[in-house]
Amino acid sequence: MALMTAKEYIDSLRKLNTRVYMFGEKIENWVDHPMIRPSINCVAMTYALAQNPEYEDLMTATSSLTGHRINRFTHLHQSTEDLVKKVKMQRLLGQKTASCFQRCVGMDAFNAVFSSTYEIDEKYGTHYHDNFKKFLIYVQDNDLTVDGAMTDPKGDRSKAPHAQADPDMYVHVVERRPDGIVVCGAKCHQTGSINSHWHIFMPTISMGPEDADWAVSFACPTDADGLYMIYGRQSCDTRKLEEGCDIDVGNAKFGGQEALVVLDHVFIPNEYIFLNGETEFAGMIVERFAGYHRQSYGGCKVGVGDVVIGAAALAAEYNGVEKASAVKDKLIEMTHLNETLYCCGVACSCEGCPTKAGNYQIDLLLANVCKQNVTRFPYEIVRLAEDIAGGLMVTMPSQKDFESDLPVGREGETIGEICKKYFAAKEGVSTEDRQRIMRFLENMCLGAAAVGYRTESMHGAGSPQAQRIMIARQGNIQGKKQLAKSVAGIKE
Ligand code: SF4
Ligand code: FE
Repeated sequence: MALMTAKEYIDSLRKLNTRVYMFGEKIENWVDHPMIRPSINCVAMTYALAQNPEYEDLMTATSSLTGHRINRFTHLHQSTEDLVKKVKMQRLLGQKTASCFQRCVGMDAFNAVFSSTYEIDEKYGTHYHDNFKKFLIYVQDNDLTVDGAMTDPKGDRSKAPHAQADPDMYVHVVERRPDGIVVCGAKCHQTGSINSHWHIFMPTISMGPEDADWAVSFACPTDADGLYMIYGRQSCDTRKLEEGCDIDVGNAKFGGQEALVVLDHVFIPNEYIFLNGETEFAGMIVERFAGYHRQSYGGCKVGVGDVVIGAAALAAEYNGVEKASAVKDKLIEMTHLNETLYCCGVACSCEGCPTKAGNYQIDLLLANVCKQNVTRFPYEIVRLAEDIAGGLMVTMPSQKDFESDLPVGREGETIGEICKKYFAAKEGVSTEDRQRIMRFLENMCLGAAAVGYRTESMHGAGSPQAQRIMIARQGNIQGKKQLAKSVAGIKE
């Protein structure tokens, strides 16, 4: 099958029996729901850009499994060049949507599970790698979106999965049958789960021998019997439900999405199982998936940062202060921080290497350094954007006030006229354009989009401490001590 168009992707979601709950109710037509649709538009953009000849090189690739032309979001990276193109593709999508476009979690899961299953089979003579390849060919040929589901609820963080008071705190096998397994549990804050056709579930931590029932990885259709989602709400999200308020929303077309995904006795046939009790490989899948997703942030967050910097520059221009040296310097600082993140994303890709299975993996140390910087720099970029924008981004009256024709002035001036008079800035700039850029910045800095640009920068792909553990492991302090001894003339 050819690559799907954006419309075909959206139509394909309607055919699924995905169970979505929000505000305590089941949402029947979730595809057209005003709070959900912007996140679907984001994923649709991964399909739309792949149809555009201008972006063909970044957005598509040749499948290593079939030789077919596929969307890069379903690709197994075959070289460091592929890894760099992945980051560039993510920056492009961040620029086009100013949001989390969600499809990367599946791509990162494909590459982590492909290489890990090869090594599990090598040790145990299992058939997980073949299972996975067959599944991925199906995904590539049908151009599907797949959620990479990793984060378990975790319960008491001091206890291993098997020691939890409630065994469902980590996804686990509750029944083994000749033809498959039955699983229970949940995954939290799952990016794009509702908008995905399938899910790949993976363990979330390294495990010991007693955790065998929890060391499980598998693929599962999003509308499988027993699987449902509870939608995560975002700051200011109900603005999307107000009519005639697209300016107040800030980014009315695009947005991110997270949900709680629940597995209530879901049956998984043998052919979709990629790990089942081989506990020592749980950590490998986690480390590889996290590594790829930490690389991803050196692309997606940079693209979103480009839009934030552009919005701050426009706010300054509309206010007539664009030539002020203090403003120029802040924009330079924002650019410097943003491009530093991009440097990290590109560097960990260029320093990548082949896995035993043949696909390429990023340099893990540099990918973790990349994500560690992402936990900091977008916060500073946002701080500077707020500084340039001024308080108006959070104190401006509503769009309805700007459009109101209710007379309030002594000479019959309407609310709308009063708003336009007092919120006018530089001559030649429409007040509506100023409104738009202020509301956009509000959305990015502390509205719904701040989920994707701020908190996700902190906790997505692992919280800062998770990267520091990896940096400690990969940093080779012993080797560095040797260097110092040698230069300082210290003999063993
Ligand atoms: Fe992709 Fe970034 Fe969203 Fe992760 S946070 S799914 S890398 S856009
Ligand atoms: Fe993420």
